[in-house]
Amino acid sequence: MDASIFRTLAACAVALLLAAPSPVRAQKDCIACEQVKCLKNTLKQKVQLRDIYLGIADEFDPKGGPAWKPANITQFDKIPDAPTRNQRYRDTISLLEQYNQMEAERTGNVPAPEGCSAGATEVSTDSMMTCAIDTVQLAAAKAGANCKQLGDLIEQHERSHANACKARKAGKFWEYTAQVAGGETKSLWLPPQILTPAGKAREEAAGYGIEIAALETMVKDAESKCKTSFKGVKTSCTIPTPVGPVTMGQEISGESCGNPVAAQWTIHTVNVASGPGVIGTHRNADKPWYNDCVAKGSAEESRRAGILNGGAGLGRGWMCVYDEGDGQREPTITIRSFRLPQCSPSSEQAITVTAERSECDEDTPPQPQPDPANLPNS
Ligand SMILES: [Zn+2]
Repeated sequence: MDASIFRTLAACAVALLLAAPSPVRAQKDCIACEQVKCLKNTLKQKVQLRDIYLGIADEFDPKGGPAWKPANITQFDKIPDAPTRNQRYRDTISLLEQYNQMEAERTGNVPAPEGCSAGATEVSTDSMMTCAIDTVQLAAAKAGANCKQLGDLIEQHERSHANACKARKAGKFWEYTAQVAGGETKSLWLPPQILTPAGKAREEAAGYGIEIAALETMVKDAESKCKTSFKGVKTSCTIPTPVGPVTMGQEISGESCGNPVAAQWTIHTVNVASGPGVIGTHRNADKPWYNDCVAKGSAEESRRAGILNGGAGLGRGWMCVYDEGDGQREPTITIRSFRLPQCSPSSEQAITVTAERSECDEDTPPQPQPDPANLPNS
């Protein structure tokens, strides 16, 4: 008889390669703009892992007709005769070995989340005999987590295994017996309920489910700590006059805290004029005022562009458009300025600049009041 039968089954844990965690390090708060990238990629990774386990579960225990129920555990205490129980246990062990191989193959290629400085490390929790979390591994994984709450999630995940394991141990143990080398008989007392491979995979998927739900909230909370700002936008309108062209325009900058297309933007404008009759260049800074930015490609962008473009003068002005980019392309701000008909040219002027990202200011400065005269600004 294979001696592996007597091994306590090691549990969960996905090997995620990676550097050894630095021994002592103050844990950062995950709810910060600088964590957004790591959190988003961690979320993506956990979804990928959950789906892998759901796929494994389906292979071991395919969904059947309407009466189908998931076969997550075998109730050995309900099997009355010893030979059947013993055989069923041996079958379970050999299926679990297939499971372990499948798990290693499929999760081994899942890359570490980009943007996280240290990697997660493997943590095992015994799923049958002791239900113990490997505390040394857990401590290392928590210390190596990019920020504190990510470490806490690893612990929550492991606790979900430990708790489920304890529940399976509730009840009367049964004696497994087998022949071992030398013709001896060995026995082992086993819990009343033991996970099937499908049950193991589903428990794993559920553990990742806990992490995914928490991460979705964390991503939103961390994004709300991001300051988005832009500067360097210059709009201009040149009006021909009998004595020569007069050029007027605005230098525009702004910042917001939180979701750039939902948050209020504080806008700074400097009005600039030059030309005949203007001595030098006049620069006149407005008081900071509020505006918003719309999402690039949104219905609201089209709606506002239609209004600003259609106005015969009064309705003209500019609007702010935010493009979040994609992992590769940086987010940008575009100021779309719909110039007055008197301007030459009077076509739309669109100026795109990179949106800078940083942490929101710790102490929020006194908020400027909206200036109705500037809505929409022209
Ligand atoms: Zn797990």
